[in-house]
Amino acid sequence: MSVSCDLVVVPLVFECFTFVAMSLLVIGSVAFDAIETPFGKTDKIIGGAATYIALSSSYFGSDVNLVAVVGGDFPKEDIKLLQDHGVDTEGLQIKEDEKSFFWSGKYHNDMNSRDTLVTELNVLENFDPVIPQAYQASEYVMLGNLSPQVQRTVIERMETKPKLVAMDTMNFWMDIALDELHKTIAMVDVLIINDEEARQLSGEYALKTAAKKILAMGPKYLIIKKGEHGALLFGEDKIYFCPALLLESVFDPTGAGDTFAGGFIGYLAASDDISFENMKRAVIYGSAMASFCVEKFGTESLVNLELPEINSRVQQFIDLSQVEISL
Ligand code: AMP
Repeated sequence: MSVSCDLVVVPLVFECFTFVAMSLLVIGSVAFDAIETPFGKTDKIIGGAATYIALSSSYFGSDVNLVAVVGGDFPKEDIKLLQDHGVDTEGLQIKEDEKSFFWSGKYHNDMNSRDTLVTELNVLENFDPVIPQAYQASEYVMLGNLSPQVQRTVIERMETKPKLVAMDTMNFWMDIALDELHKTIAMVDVLIINDEEARQLSGEYALKTAAKKILAMGPKYLIIKKGEHGALLFGEDKIYFCPALLLESVFDPTGAGDTFAGGFIGYLAASDDISFENMKRAVIYGSAMASFCVEKFGTESLVNLELPEINSRVQQFIDLSQVEISL
């Protein structure tokens, strides 16, 4: 079944299984998070960019291969949770004598902005990513939030050039490793950042001008996420805007960006089509996955999703943005 959405024809996800699913390599933090929102507070729970990306992309039928590092303190049942979602963890290093990456954040009342309270790199400080032989032929690569040097090392260590490399980053790395970040950005196909990060990276307030400057840094495509205001896709001199759904409950935006990235790349890998038209569909799937993420704390809403629920969310995006105008 396909549904038309303002010139974007979106094949619903169950059709993906007729596609030849590709392999997806995911890197990023696998972490402990402690989160505070106006609705509650958590102790240390499983988090990390790669965790959200891997869980989100796992629903699309491709092989998800994880390269990351945790300490001996990381619960085995949380690794099993990833494995139960079909995520291959051969590339997950466990440093028995070290501590896992820890991040803590507190959201403001509007839930759109947050303060980072703690970033303890721990095992990430000296992370040397090893790509198992079985992952070497991964056609799609998602470089989740990590130091830009490590992200670049992963690209350099791939023996076969992937079809598409997408990358996420954040203000933390812009503040402390801008030169390294520029070198890595120049090597990727798609950069995925939020509006605040796009403004910081480009030094421009207007997002159209910011996008132009960032695309001149090397990536072919740029996605700017605008939280509850949707997401923009730039590339090939075109712009596409995907709205966000109006949700009835928003508890915790942590990981929404990574979940978006997982849905985006998961859909691209499953459909094996990197045209601008298909990227529009992937942005819708990414947005649908992110809409689940914010409804509960941490990864909770991502662990038990069913395909019909995902498709029903995609249908809501289609209904929200469909318009017929004769001029
Ligand atoms: P998001 O809300 O999509 O920006 O992602 C939040 C996740 O990013 C949390 O689960 C954190 O563990 C992780 N994270 C926060 N800061 C960093 C960092 N500097 N490097 C890698 N991962 C991070």
